[in-house]
Amino acid sequence: MRALDTLWFQVAGTICNITCTHCFISCSPKNRSHEMLSLTDVETRLAEARLLGVRDYYFTGGEPFMNRDMLPILAATLRQGPATVLTNGMLLRKEVCAELRRLSDESEYSLDIRVSLDGFDRESHDAIRGAGVWDRVMIGFRNLADAGINPVITVTEAADGVGSNEGRARFLEIIRSFGFDKPRLKVLALFRIGAEETRTRAYESWERLTIDGMSEADADVLQCSTSRMVTSKGVYVCPILIEQSAAKMGETIAETLRPFPLAYGACHTCWVDGVSCRT
Ligand code: SF4
Ligand code: SF4
Repeated sequence: MRALDTLWFQVAGTICNITCTHCFISCSPKNRSHEMLSLTDVETRLAEARLLGVRDYYFTGGEPFMNRDMLPILAATLRQGPATVLTNGMLLRKEVCAELRRLSDESEYSLDIRVSLDGFDRESHDAIRGAGVWDRVMIGFRNLADAGINPVITVTEAADGVGSNEGRARFLEIIRSFGFDKPRLKVLALFRIGAEETRTRAYESWERLTIDGMSEADADVLQCSTSRMVTSKGVYVCPILIEQSAAKMGETIAETLRPFPLAYGACHTCWVDGVSCRT
């Protein structure tokens, strides 16, 4: 741990309105391994984060907009710093997008909405995310566009073609088609944990970090050197390992500002692929 710049909130717990075949925390409508956070939960952590000098805030799940407190939570956060929400885009109704626009306009900090896509078209996207999801996400993009909000598209390496420049350009074209002249794309490596273990494979025993291969400066690029994750069960090392009980580092944020052993297969992906869940 170098400096706590970023605080994540598992704001929807592990509860999601869909069940993606690659979800690294196996979120679903029935997974209650982490519960949703309330506005009071988040406000308590924001107060601690302010004292610790946190610079920005991320919200994920599950699906954050399933949390009925999500808009008041963003309002509270945007009084303190920049916020980013990671969403599957299915609940971006017109009224929600209009409210996001208002919150953004009234804050001196930025609000980013990150929407996941896992294919160039209905067939490939829904093969991973479920029937009917593509159509609802396209409505979400239209509503964001009408509200003047330019989302960041997040694509995992499960999507066909995303590895090539041509493939990436196709994703950018999708978002351009809604009238955004500066489309933004983030590509995320796959973590072979959760549902992804069944879809493809789990980590092999050799896929681990060894300290021999790393310098102190190398460790600085790992997101756990500058961030922590708040969940309903306590504060965890990062957004990836919340289903590992040993990754819970404390009840308060302050208790977690200490080293963590990078002993997991996912740590290998973070290092080899240079992954950070931050935008
Ligand atoms: S990948 Fe995202 S949208 Fe899909 S099940 Fe997991 S949390 Fe939900
Ligand atoms: S998976 Fe490991 S290396 Fe990656 S952020 Fe979490 S603790 Fe750090």
